[in-house]
Amino acid sequence: MDIKISKTHKSRIGEVDFDNLGFGEFFSDHMVTVDYQGGEWKSARIIPFGTIEILPSVCSLHYGQVVFEGLKAFRTKDGSINLFRPEKYHERYNRSCQRLCIPPLEFGFFISGLKELLLLDKDWIPKKKGTSLYIRPFVFATDSFLGVHVSNTYRFMIITSPVGAYYKEGINPVRLITSGEYARAVKGGLGSAKTPANYASSLLPAEEAQKKGFTQVLWLDGAEKRYIEEVGTMNIMFVIDNELVTPPLEGSILPGVTRDTVIQLAQKWGVTVKEEKISIEDVFEATKNGRLQEVFGTGTAAVISPVGWIQHEDELITINNGKIGHFSQKLYDEITGIQYGEKPDIFGWCYRI
Ligand SMILES: *Cc1c(COP(=O)(O)O)cnc(C)c1O
Repeated sequence: MDIKISKTHKSRIGEVDFDNLGFGEFFSDHMVTVDYQGGEWKSARIIPFGTIEILPSVCSLHYGQVVFEGLKAFRTKDGSINLFRPEKYHERYNRSCQRLCIPPLEFGFFISGLKELLLLDKDWIPKKKGTSLYIRPFVFATDSFLGVHVSNTYRFMIITSPVGAYYKEGINPVRLITSGEYARAVKGGLGSAKTPANYASSLLPAEEAQKKGFTQVLWLDGAEKRYIEEVGTMNIMFVIDNELVTPPLEGSILPGVTRDTVIQLAQKWGVTVKEEKISIEDVFEATKNGRLQEVFGTGTAAVISPVGWIQHEDELITINNGKIGHFSQKLYDEITGIQYGEKPDIFGWCYRI
């Protein structure tokens, strides 16, 4: 692929406080932009990060034909760049696109634009342990019309953001609450695609949960409000009787890359992994008879996020005394160790640049 590069005249990197990055607040100097027209992806460019012009009638604004991804690049001790599992994120990107009738992108196309962007903005990849460059590829329909049908034109873009350690004061367990009223996704819907619609449906429930003092909603299945699904930005895992239990991918759950990473590591360590339906009653029952050892969420942003409390209807359970568990900590250390090039990458997850 031929990529035209127009560099910025003045880098904004001096405006960034690398000791206080937060998450997704700063954006690197450049971005990738590619257009789909006449049945093909063309005119790939890297241009300075900035505003883009679109018509108010652009169909993705009205009907949501949009897909995004989120992956990370890390600076290793020897100064090289580690992209974590880009093939896996790309594969999911194409699967999401298929569900939303968006034309796919070849991996070669995806990675060559990203590589160029990372090399150009390499100084934006922070160096401290715990920090990384968050990469946000996304695509949106660009036809101008108000009828409901599939767009003929699209724009694919990649922006990047240097991010701090997700947990400033160590890993603090989160508080989750189930929702009796709302559903995030149902089988056959959009739940397994990374698309903004799923986030739109979760905003109101999340706001109500926060008002009650909880961090996020623990989603139950939309039909019976019984089986545990995920957390909306993270997949969820339970350690019960020393076995790892996580809901199966049956269409309403996002197939997390971190979920897959954790499953592979657990299996390598000889832990039994059960991708099985688990109801909220099962979890409360296992707590009462002392079998529930740990609960944690998995996602690219936080990697491992221990869950200390779950509220369901009128009952609240405390997990592992509201502290991070052994297994959660071990997973966090192993995954971040591989990402920063400190531990052997036996699965070949790191893509070196
Ligand atoms: C992105 C996302 C996750 C986590 O997936 P990772 O690939 O591990 O980052 C979980 N649930 C939803 C709804 C998501 O959008």
